[in-house]
Amino acid sequence: MSISNTSLLQRSLASVWHPCTQMKQHEMLPLVPIKRGEGVWLEDFDGKRYLDGVSSWWVNLFGHNHPHIKQAITAQLDQLEHVILAGFTHEPVVRLSEQLSILTGLGHSFYASDGASATEIALKMSFHYWRNRGPAGKTRFLSLQNGYHGETLGSLSVTDVALFKDTYAPLLRESVTLPSPDWRLAEAGESAEQYALRCAGFAEEYIAQHHDELAAVILEPLVQCATGMAMYHPAYLQQLRDICDRYQVHLVADEIAVGFGRTGTMFATEQAGIRPDFICLSKGITGGYLPLSVVQTTDEIYAAFYDDKVTRGFLHSHSYTGNALACSAALATLEIFAQHDVLNSNRSKTKYLNHQLAALADLPVAHLRNLGMIWAFDVAPSQPGFQQHFYQAALQRGLLLRPVGNTVYFMPPYVISEAEMDWMLEQTLHALKETI
Ligand SMILES: *Cc1c(COP(=O)(O)O)cnc(C)c1O
Repeated sequence: MSISNTSLLQRSLASVWHPCTQMKQHEMLPLVPIKRGEGVWLEDFDGKRYLDGVSSWWVNLFGHNHPHIKQAITAQLDQLEHVILAGFTHEPVVRLSEQLSILTGLGHSFYASDGASATEIALKMSFHYWRNRGPAGKTRFLSLQNGYHGETLGSLSVTDVALFKDTYAPLLRESVTLPSPDWRLAEAGESAEQYALRCAGFAEEYIAQHHDELAAVILEPLVQCATGMAMYHPAYLQQLRDICDRYQVHLVADEIAVGFGRTGTMFATEQAGIRPDFICLSKGITGGYLPLSVVQTTDEIYAAFYDDKVTRGFLHSHSYTGNALACSAALATLEIFAQHDVLNSNRSKTKYLNHQLAALADLPVAHLRNLGMIWAFDVAPSQPGFQQHFYQAALQRGLLLRPVGNTVYFMPPYVISEAEMDWMLEQTLHALKETI
């Protein structure tokens, strides 16, 4: 390793507190310093390349160093980098809001910079809507077992990941979780759809009894990504939409990970033919270039805040709300979708990799699953230390994957080629054989 690599690692450990990390583990496991990126590849200071099989934590859609997005941000830099959005407006934020409305059918967009802020905003808005409009007393939220909505205190309250949550339990609002419709939890002989409907039945039972206190149900449509790419049948979403309508409870779709084509449609809720009351978007929205999140809601909900009384308004803000550079990256991302039939070309990539995955047949893996540009399988039986060992074995081979427990998943940038998919699979097979 070159001097520059080594010294950067030491300086990083001495000064940066890295996310989601027990820092002491870096005594054994070195950080990976990255100098540049190009397409699906990341490159360190010695020229070693890594295929970014997790899209840099699910944010990158069209590869690193994308000329069109880069050009759009640069052009925006010459005009306006940022301006306060309270009392002021600018063209990129207006154009983005208009275009997102056309895509989701939700008329108003409220901006923040990361996903957790978006889910917090949706929860606060839902609560405040009922406070403004009645009935009174709707102050609680329902979420799903194994759901993930971010890690600030409000979003962590509706997240169900013990490792992230238990330590902070005394700081959190108590919340109720519904059984996950994850088809792996179905009983023998029960189809994914039958199980989804059974879970919707549990939801209905609870909501029928408690709707007086419930403001909203928040869920990740179709794929619970953070807890290991748990997938479920769209019938669940159709049922939940119907139940929420009947009992006057909002439905919040957290599409932070699955939005922007990840599941094969622009938004996952489209596959159920439903429109949520709130949608939370972030991650891929800027193609992975700049932090931006948005909560969109209906004009009817927006109208409940529109009043002579200041306190009936939504008095929430973040300093970088509607940042012009981030909005320009998002607009460029939407242009790529519009100009290049992305969803269709992803479909043939999906088909290709699904076919190649037959190569896993001889290995002890279960629950091979795919939706759009997400693939996952579980190593069975689960082995202690698998996550860490596999991560290192793959990294050694130049492949960046981050298993969740015993689940290995691929979530590559959409620009991955067939040859790169083959290479990714080949390295995965080697890493599995070295690990299992
Ligand atoms: C990543 C994620 C979040 C949180 O987004 P951050 O930008 O990391 O705060 C919330 N919900 C879902 C479904 C996510 O995948």
